[in-house]
Amino acid sequence: MRRNVRPAPALAAVGDTPLTALPGCGPRVAEKLAARGLHCLQDLWLQLPRQYEDRTRLTRIADLQPGVAAQVEGRVEAVERGFRYRPVLRVALDDGSRATLVLRFFHFRAAQVAQFVPGARLRCYGTPRPGQNGLEIVHPSYRVIGDDEAADLGDALDPVYPALEGIGAASLRRLIGLALDRLPDDSALELVPGDLRDAARLPDGSMLPSLREALVAVHRPGRDQDVSLLLAGTHPAQRRLALEELLAHHLSLRRQRIAQQAHAAPVLDRFELADRLQRALPFDLTAAQGRVFDQVAADVGQPTPMLRLVQGDVGSGKTVVAALAALLAVASNRQAALMAPTELLAEQHLANLRAWLEPLGVRVAWLAGKVTGRARRQALEAVASGEAQVVVGTHALMQAGVAFHDLALAIVDEQHRFGVHQRLALRDKGAVAPGGPGLPGDAIVPHQLVMTATPIPRTLAMSAYADLDVSAIDELPPGRTPVQTVVLNAGRRPALVERIREACAEGRQAYWVCTLIDDSDEVVAQAAQTTFEELGTQLPGVRVGLVHGRLKAAEKQATMAAFKRGEIDLLVATTVIEVGVDVPNASLMVIENAERLGLAQLHQLRGRVGRGREASTCVLVYQAPLSATARARLETMRETCDGFLIAEKDLELRGPGELLGTRQTGVAGFRVADLARDADLLPQVHALAGRLLADHPAIAERIVQRWVGGAARYASA
Ligand code: ADP
Ligand code: MG
Repeated sequence: MRRNVRPAPALAAVGDTPLTALPGCGPRVAEKLAARGLHCLQDLWLQLPRQYEDRTRLTRIADLQPGVAAQVEGRVEAVERGFRYRPVLRVALDDGSRATLVLRFFHFRAAQVAQFVPGARLRCYGTPRPGQNGLEIVHPSYRVIGDDEAADLGDALDPVYPALEGIGAASLRRLIGLALDRLPDDSALELVPGDLRDAARLPDGSMLPSLREALVAVHRPGRDQDVSLLLAGTHPAQRRLALEELLAHHLSLRRQRIAQQAHAAPVLDRFELADRLQRALPFDLTAAQGRVFDQVAADVGQPTPMLRLVQGDVGSGKTVVAALAALLAVASNRQAALMAPTELLAEQHLANLRAWLEPLGVRVAWLAGKVTGRARRQALEAVASGEAQVVVGTHALMQAGVAFHDLALAIVDEQHRFGVHQRLALRDKGAVAPGGPGLPGDAIVPHQLVMTATPIPRTLAMSAYADLDVSAIDELPPGRTPVQTVVLNAGRRPALVERIREACAEGRQAYWVCTLIDDSDEVVAQAAQTTFEELGTQLPGVRVGLVHGRLKAAEKQATMAAFKRGEIDLLVATTVIEVGVDVPNASLMVIENAERLGLAQLHQLRGRVGRGREASTCVLVYQAPLSATARARLETMRETCDGFLIAEKDLELRGPGELLGTRQTGVAGFRVADLARDADLLPQVHALAGRLLADHPAIAERIVQRWVGGAARYASA
């Protein structure tokens, strides 16, 4: 096609112009902008407004509404300079509409005061509020208009940009305006090739606005634009930008995957140990576990690195699948590592893996932050010599100084707690080529298995984990009864305590989870301590235990073990028990201040019960009044136990940034896109990405560069 003949490198040359080319942007300002990730013109083009001010029309003072921002023009009627607690300047404005507006200033300079002479003509913009005598605007933006000045109103709304520390709002607006003045024609701006662009459609069937049109519409919307669409982020111009941004992120993850798969990985194809474990287990794998293990085994049987995410709801039995996978490495005389985000969870994995693997003669080592001194040296030696065949730990596994003999499989549990970087750091532990961080193409890297109990809606998973294959353990082991969930006002606590007494008398075990808004360990630990003491007094005869993050690991472990053995009836805990803890006999869970927790966390916590044959109950205790979102969350919890449904709802209620955490995936930190709002763009994004990678890899690279800023963002952190 003729259009494609234009050589790509010339395309965005203007966009790559450094900001120092703008008048008034010296090295000092440029440095401040660079600190915010703004380096060149296109970075400013993509710095989008978060609000608009309508200065295209004037409102009569008599028509002003409290709380509604407006522009007025009038003459100074009176000026009063006073001092009540602090200096104050009041300027009364009259526009002949039989109402007076007061402008109130608390900070002002002498030069300003001199401007406000009675009779001077002022145009000002701000949000009026009821004052002592009619409406007033505190610190309006204003300008003095000469009597002979024509004073046009302009025909575009004024953009309001997100504040950048160290740069005044006015100079930022001015710089962005200057950058926009240099916006080239689409022919020099568009990166997506014309034929692909022409063929692409927005979900409503409309064609994509051009990039230039889109940028102008967002930065300088005409006075007749529907600002509500812009503010909601659903204007076609924003959808166009969101599409390109999602495309860039998706491309960046896909590229990462392609780069990964250029490496070699050890072939792990010996099943004898895994078969022995399956025969030794007291249960049969569920069909879903079997299917997922087969997928994993097929992956690691290949000489390219596996990159697989296993999603499985709480209690679906991911650990045993991880253990079987580890045995594939061990049977090939290589090492496997299992990393968990918290010590409690890592310890539980250690206990499980030791119980399952040691009878098979497999040596399991333990490495966590608290393993120090001699024990640590010994563990490190065993890991380095290969004597340890399976290594379980926390992120201590990734620290410098930990060297594996021959790591062939890196398993990361509860991925949502870790970032992409951490995942890759563990992978790099297994690289045997001398290349170091650059990892030349012939490096041998371990297979990666990532497990998460936070089900992520499919659309989101495809975007967030475009560098991973996804399997789902979508079935729970047999014999589980769904947890019944009750929502209770905190005022009914005495009745609840009574119910716990009865349950414990029947031999049931219960959790009582304390949460607080201030989630500093110390404050929450204190609250848990108080609750522990109160419940201890209110429930004589009930054996109450306590775990929180401030306790020594040995203490925590001893308490958990006692709870597991049934020597504690009621376990008061903070959310440290959230992940992974497995006590099948516990069938009652109370969560205090449930309104403060997110859906994912509530679901995780609730997953601690309903693991045995006993029917389980979860009581969500809330403090009134409930916000609408909190109410919706509790409703959702009451209605369903399905992790995927809950995840969809969660996405709807709070958006993907929070769902995924900000650091993790490279998907958070969008400039325009919002995965919850823009999920319907993803099919289009995936199609475009496929075409670009196949036919225009150099352009794909530039799109990533424009929006994601290249490798830098992945390399840091
Ligand atoms: P999660 O997926 O939440 O990490 P776990 O691996 O902790 O789940 O498994 C939860 C519990 O279910 C454990 O006690 C585990 O031994 C048990 N389990 C796992 N698979 C099965 C199965 N196929 N049949 C019965 N119990 C199982
Ligand atoms: Mg688990």
